[in-house]
Amino acid sequence: SGYVAVLGKPNVGKSTLSNQMVGQKLSIVTDKPQTTRHRILGIISSEEYQMILYDTPGVIEKKMHQLDTVMMKNVRSAAVNADCVVIVVDASKMPQKIDEVLEEGNLKEKVPTLLVLNKKDLIKPGEIAKRLEWYEKFTDVDEVIPVSAKFGHGVEDIKNWILTKLPIGPAYYP
Ligand code: GDP
Repeated sequence: SGYVAVLGKPNVGKSTLSNQMVGQKLSIVTDKPQTTRHRILGIISSEEYQMILYDTPGVIEKKMHQLDTVMMKNVRSAAVNADCVVIVVDASKMPQKIDEVLEEGNLKEKVPTLLVLNKKDLIKPGEIAKRLEWYEKFTDVDEVIPVSAKFGHGVEDIKNWILTKLPIGPAYYP
């Protein structure tokens, strides 16, 4: 068991993907105003892992101190302690640098990083291949996986990748 930080700009499909991975509707633990202001979308749990979802770029750390609920402290600890990172990008958009996303994630030093090229259903296979190549060449991620969260394609590949990165044993609750 362990923690997975799911990062990406708004609307890239983080919630859709996470729902598919857990196989049930997302239970958002933050309320709406906080979600908008702090860009923390929520935590969802499966038997195998907990996923912390947040939008980037955003002012995560700066805003975080204003929150005094135990819940939000837990969200931050969980993110900082993430065992691996899943960065979601929209494959139908031009490729873009992800340094910002990683920095704002505020994660511990070197954790395994996966880049998910989502919404592959919106572009032609040849275009997907080009995007994939671009991300492999110009980013520092460990792996790139093209998926369609909406249709569930490739989601198993993500799960399998994550499972190899998690510590064995019971969940650690910060
Ligand atoms: P989040 O803000 O990153 O959590 O993004 P959401 O999961 O809310 O998705 C944003 C929008 O993109 C929604 O309208 C989804 O239905 C759509 N979307 C998510 N994944 C896919 C996908 O694989 N293909 C397509 N075509 N649309 C998707």
